Amino acid sequence: MDASQLTPILADNILSVQQVGKARAQKLNKLGIKTIGDLVTYYPRDYEDRNREKRVEALEDGDECAVTLLVCSDITLNRPRRTLRIYKVTACDDSGSVTLTWFNQDYIKDKIHKGSKYVFFGKVKKRGIFIEMVNPIFEEADAIRKKTTGIQPIYPLTEGITQTYMRMIQSNALSMVIGKLSDILPEELRGQFALAEINYALEKIHFPQTAEEAERARRRLVFEELLMLQLGLLHLKNSQVQVCGIQYKKRAEIRKFVENLPFQLTNAQWRVYQEIENDMIGKKQMNRLIQGDVGSGKTIVAVMAILLAALNGYQSVFMVPTEILAEQHYQSVVPMLQDYGVRVVLLTGSVTKKEKEHIKEGIKNHGFDLIIGTHALLEEDVSFANLGLVVTDEQHRFGVKQRAVLSAKSNPDILVMTATPIPRTLALILYGDLDISIIDELPPNRKPIETYSVTETMRDRINRFIRKKVEEGRQAYIICPLVEESEVIEAEAATSLADKLRERDLKGLTIGLIHGKMKWKEKEKVMRDFSEGKLDVLVSTTVVEVGVNVPNASVMVVENAERFGLAQLHQLRGRVGRGEYQSYCILFCQSSNEIARKRMEIMTTYSDGFKLSEKDMELRGPGDIFGIRQHGLPEFKIVNLYEDIEILKEAQAAASDIMKHQKLEGREDYKRLQSQLLSMFRKKLQEIALN
Ligand code: ADP
Ligand code: MG
Repeated sequence: MDASQLTPILADNILSVQQVGKARAQKLNKLGIKTIGDLVTYYPRDYEDRNREKRVEALEDGDECAVTLLVCSDITLNRPRRTLRIYKVTACDDSGSVTLTWFNQDYIKDKIHKGSKYVFFGKVKKRGIFIEMVNPIFEEADAIRKKTTGIQPIYPLTEGITQTYMRMIQSNALSMVIGKLSDILPEELRGQFALAEINYALEKIHFPQTAEEAERARRRLVFEELLMLQLGLLHLKNSQVQVCGIQYKKRAEIRKFVENLPFQLTNAQWRVYQEIENDMIGKKQMNRLIQGDVGSGKTIVAVMAILLAALNGYQSVFMVPTEILAEQHYQSVVPMLQDYGVRVVLLTGSVTKKEKEHIKEGIKNHGFDLIIGTHALLEEDVSFANLGLVVTDEQHRFGVKQRAVLSAKSNPDILVMTATPIPRTLALILYGDLDISIIDELPPNRKPIETYSVTETMRDRINRFIRKKVEEGRQAYIICPLVEESEVIEAEAATSLADKLRERDLKGLTIGLIHGKMKWKEKEKVMRDFSEGKLDVLVSTTVVEVGVNVPNASVMVVENAERFGLAQLHQLRGRVGRGEYQSYCILFCQSSNEIARKRMEIMTTYSDGFKLSEKDMELRGPGDIFGIRQHGLPEFKIVNLYEDIEILKEAQAAASDIMKHQKLEGREDYKRLQSQLLSMFRKKLQEIALN
């Protein structure tokens, strides 16, 4: 919250808060706290609920709670070192006893008396039947309770700033501002979404009396943060409309192309193509994300867009994350497009220098209409004769930055494709600047992949199973354990696994190997042999993860599956089940860890990528999966995307309603919200204006 223009006092230096001097102010600066506004929006990360009371028998290790106890021993003093004095006493209720320990707190001996009752509050350590509280705070049980009651905020701290000090200055600062803040959220909105008023929220987020009060305050502040983000994104998107793109003409050949395909497009594919075409024939530059689960047939939709561009005389770039994938797209796209005179070239990091010069020359002179390549393409300065369309496959492998680099070269349309299943609500945030199309339908007649999580004891059975499938004419992938620290070790492990299979477990089958340390040409040869059916089994590190298409392969075995993320496992599983054959995914799980077990269970239960990613988020939180920071979003002060997904949905609804009815411009009671928004996004808007 940066409502400083609205309530000037928030912009004042923290030195004007009581008890904040120069030295402390410097330390607070380290926490990013410079103004009173910074201080009061430095929210607690948690609370200590001193209202929580338990009896001894109910205490668990790690509890923080109050216990009423009768002191039943004399205080003992131990001095193991000259500077260390340990006071101990035993206290009990009718359900058990607790040892209370204080370090160097000499006043204890005068305050605690055998035979008296006190309420103790502190952290519980429990080892077997031994229960201990270290340095608990306490007061007499029949006195009016002050210290062992209420809810205390817990702040993230830095050296030289204690919890007690932080609480004190928060309280001082709040007393300067509470009652003076004008709310940027209008009453109408607060009524609609049951949001607390700002003065209440800010006071109660720091010093609530009950957990409910803290929750109500938090909800309001989270909502505000998410609303600002959503409004900002929508606002940015609207400002980008100004960027003029190419206005393509519709072409009849597209229909012919579709009719000549060996299959019928799904309704979803056709719908998404229409959305793309509408963008392309329109005035504004296209910025569109296609989301579709693995195997939903995104490639063909992109090819149609590329064809439209080529027929209009524009070049396209098709960027993919790996060379294997580039090669594969090249192989499949060339025959589809050659009838239409589209000249395709493959540009990857591993073509020779001379070839590369030649290709670049061709791109510059419009000797090629479609350039398929890896991101190596981006690292070099390729100049295009007439670039009209940039397609990025499997976006999660590319940073947003790279996307920007390429698009900055001219003003081509942008199409981003991803199989990373992101719930729509989150996608709106992560790709807030893109329009989103979803291919939510798989081609017909796909048989669901049977997924099994197995342990080592099943090894022989699985090997027999692979043999049986190979005898039936199918092929299998075996994915080696992920070794994140070292590609070298990973390659060695892959090699020795392949040797073991050749010599023993799968003796007699033809087995190929791909790992990250091999030269591109070698990898390409193995991959081609596999896709032409010359190999029965492909042993591989995760290089096959993204996008490859070998419809005859029907078995996917993943070693040490617990080392992979769910999204990755889903991608790997998506390599099979691409043809007419019943397919199988076998996950060897070598860990008995609880989370690992849960993840395997999720994999065997769900086949829908979106469902999976939701479950993954529940396990890990979204930050881990999608690298939210990397997407350059403002850091949240209070929002936790994982917990706050429901509030996010409401904020999104509120934001689109506000934009739809142009309330920011038209309504007096939304003026404060608008000026807040403009000040937050001013820099970003200026950047856009400069481009
Ligand atoms: P992904 O969305 O994972 O990139 P692909 O574009 O690689 O999927 O398509 C997967 C496979 O499905 C390919 O072999 C492709 O030719 C095929 N395919 C695409 N669309 C259809 C369809 N409508 N009907 C049948 N098969 C299709
Ligand atoms: Mg694909």
